[in-house]
Amino acid sequence: MLRIYICSFSMILLFIACDNEQGEPTQQDQRPNILYIMSDDHAEQAISAYGSQLIQTPNLDRIAREGMLFQNSFVTNSICAPSRATMLTGKFSHLNGLRDNRDQFDGSQITFPKLLQKVGYQTAVVGKWHLKTKPTGFDFWRVLVGQGEYYQPRLVSDKDTTVMPGYVTEVITDVALDFLAKRDTTKPFCLLYHHKAPHRSWMPHVDDLDMYVNETIPEPPTLFDTYEGRPAAEAADMRIADMFLSGDMKLHPDSYPGKDTNTGGAGIGTTVDREAGWLNMYNRLTAEQKVKWDAHYDPINQDFKENPPQGKELISWKYQRYMKDYLRTVKAVDDQIGRVLTYLEEAGLAENTIVVYTSDQGFYLGEHGWYDKRFMYEESLGMPLLIKYPGVIEPGSTSNALVQNLDFAPTFLDYAGINIPAEIQGKSMRPIFEQKGSDTWRDAVYYHYYEYPHGWHMVKQHYGVRTDRYKLIHFYNDIDHWELYDLEKDPQEMTNRFDDPAYADVQMQLQEKLSALREQYQIHPEK
Ligand code: CA
Repeated sequence: MLRIYICSFSMILLFIACDNEQGEPTQQDQRPNILYIMSDDHAEQAISAYGSQLIQTPNLDRIAREGMLFQNSFVTNSICAPSRATMLTGKFSHLNGLRDNRDQFDGSQITFPKLLQKVGYQTAVVGKWHLKTKPTGFDFWRVLVGQGEYYQPRLVSDKDTTVMPGYVTEVITDVALDFLAKRDTTKPFCLLYHHKAPHRSWMPHVDDLDMYVNETIPEPPTLFDTYEGRPAAEAADMRIADMFLSGDMKLHPDSYPGKDTNTGGAGIGTTVDREAGWLNMYNRLTAEQKVKWDAHYDPINQDFKENPPQGKELISWKYQRYMKDYLRTVKAVDDQIGRVLTYLEEAGLAENTIVVYTSDQGFYLGEHGWYDKRFMYEESLGMPLLIKYPGVIEPGSTSNALVQNLDFAPTFLDYAGINIPAEIQGKSMRPIFEQKGSDTWRDAVYYHYYEYPHGWHMVKQHYGVRTDRYKLIHFYNDIDHWELYDLEKDPQEMTNRFDDPAYADVQMQLQEKLSALREQYQIHPEK
């Protein structure tokens, strides 16, 4: 009798596990949780899993070791807000309405969090949002104001805006972990955990300021690029040489004579008050934080005041200052992601959670003399991408497939068992995760950048195509200029091969491919 009772009881439990009162599947149905981690402006060159010589990122490397590292992952439009809109919608900028940072996101359109929410996922976004309109499709959201602040950041919710004491990377992580701890455990979750770092103005955690103090960061070979054959590159205002002495270099206004007259990408004739902007950021530090901050930066201020470097030496000096602060902010991102990975393990969630690490795009760490992004050149076209999904993705694997930020939405929907809406232009990465059928994957990616002449950095509008070996770019609007690169022979993209007879066939094939992609993605001539 007892055995029969136990058996019947087990049957009832099994039944409950499969179906709750609303008829929605429960956690036991194996739908994966999704933890999408995205930082801001984090270059592959600053991740040790990608072979960085600049920094060790042991926690990001954990994701690579337990999952897949993507060698060819690209954005569709290398700038903050448009990248986020593409990630949410699976559509190119001209169709999701967010071509540049001026545009507002139309929150009424289809996004993957909305579709997941409809089928019973608990959805959340924490950290940088930057889409101007309120998040839609989330059960829980706490987002930074605009670009966000490094110290004592303000977080916006449906109810209010709150100043959160602490360092932004830790604050965002605390809120994300709090959401995980308090979530409805009967539902799978989808958490978008978005860091502000390592976005400009690269303000490190005060406890990380001692990193790199006595080290010299190696300079990239193209730091003093002179841009032959690349007029749009030459016209851009994003050179390290022109970085602000105030906000970027963190020099006190009385450490240099007169005003800070560097353009800093703000544009010619700008009215940006550099010193005031910098002091606003610095003054967000608490008195205690300022003690540590000043102990580090005061001697740098003093040295600069007494012995200001000039010419090329000034560029090298700026590069060291920029890189050290950038890398220190990356270190905090890595530390905090470690906390979250450990939480997943301790909470028994690691096995059934897809963990993605990416950035809204790549970044220049001195290549071509630059900081910032925007161009279709490799460093900013590329985005780091590490994904683990135990039982599905082979640990320690690598993919060379040409994937894009278009592909996140369809991939998540696919694994949640939702039909992918026809308007989504990306593809589910399932065949890549499962290492089958990837010969049917795309053989080229399309790119399109719009923010010009308004906005920062004066990067001309351009679009283009990249295959596994070649890249063709067309700069347009106030210029009509083509560039072609052979990435195998010229990975640093220093020699424009457009109209080079040796590349005539390649050029023709790339132009045909470009036209086909523009048609496929519904890019009309004026867009
Ligand atoms: Ca960004």
